[in-house]
Amino acid sequence: MIIDGKAISAATRGDIKAQVDELKKQGVTPGLAVIIVGDDPASRVYVNNKKKACAELGMLSEEYALPADTTEEALLTLIDTLNGREDIDGILCQLPLPRHLDEKRVINAISAEKDVDAFHPVNVGKIMIGDYSFLPCTPAGVMELIRRSNIDVAGKHCVVIGRSNIVGKPMAMLMLHANATVTICHSRTQNLKEICRTADIIVAAVGKAYFVTADMVKEGAVVIDVGMNRNAEGKLCGDVDYDEVSKVASAITPVPGGVGPMTITMLMQNTVTAAKQRRK
Ligand code: NAP
Repeated sequence: MIIDGKAISAATRGDIKAQVDELKKQGVTPGLAVIIVGDDPASRVYVNNKKKACAELGMLSEEYALPADTTEEALLTLIDTLNGREDIDGILCQLPLPRHLDEKRVINAISAEKDVDAFHPVNVGKIMIGDYSFLPCTPAGVMELIRRSNIDVAGKHCVVIGRSNIVGKPMAMLMLHANATVTICHSRTQNLKEICRTADIIVAAVGKAYFVTADMVKEGAVVIDVGMNRNAEGKLCGDVDYDEVSKVASAITPVPGGVGPMTITMLMQNTVTAAKQRRK
């Protein structure tokens, strides 16, 4: 089975749109403020896509494009203003930030109840104890792909390759909450290939093109590819050698068209969730 991220994203957005329409009947339009500092081209593409998704779902979006030499004080003042705005439910600051800005301080300044990226320590802690409002968008997108593909996670051995704060660690935690037996691998892991071969589900979040090869995958395993890389020809590709691994996997996500389309969709869901929770 090829797990079609585009189709699942469209179906998920349909559900989100219904929630937005319902909120609008109650006089509430979910609002997202996106802050971008500097002119990183990749960040610009992401921000444009987020704005487009808001428009598609009938949500309010505001963009704050700040120059690369913005001071930390100015950025924190803007966040403070947005924290206090009644009509803004979600705030996100597109990462990475220019080097002179302290990412941790900026993330911590966003009100936890408007932290739709789920990077604030309060929300990270809530994920640990399984009492969460927002899930980080990419791992949440992976869980939604799995759920909507009717893949059973409970009791399965899930190997997550990668331990970053935004993908690998929360991914492992969500799999654990879904009752998988979880192994987290990273650059110091010994016998990675052998460990992967015992996995019923592999989630690759490494950032290296074609890293997961067919000899690392057990026959019939589910393979989720979070990676977004450029190959030698400059073509977008994942962490998984799709052509070969798809011959042994029972289900696999392609790149592009797998996990990627889900990330912004889950951001939209988080913004709607924030709008509901703030007005409870
Ligand atoms: P990251 O912060 O660079 O983390 C990469 C992880 O891979 C690290 O934990 C690292 O281990 C591990 N790793 C590196 N080399 C390895 C090796 N040889 N063997 C085993 N593990 C190894 O990257 P990230 O932010 O998590 O992103 C991972 C990938 O997902 C990237 O391609 C990124 O572009 C993509 N991504 C996609 C989406 C989406 O929407 N589809 C969203 C976010 C990220 P150490 O901790 O030991 O260094």
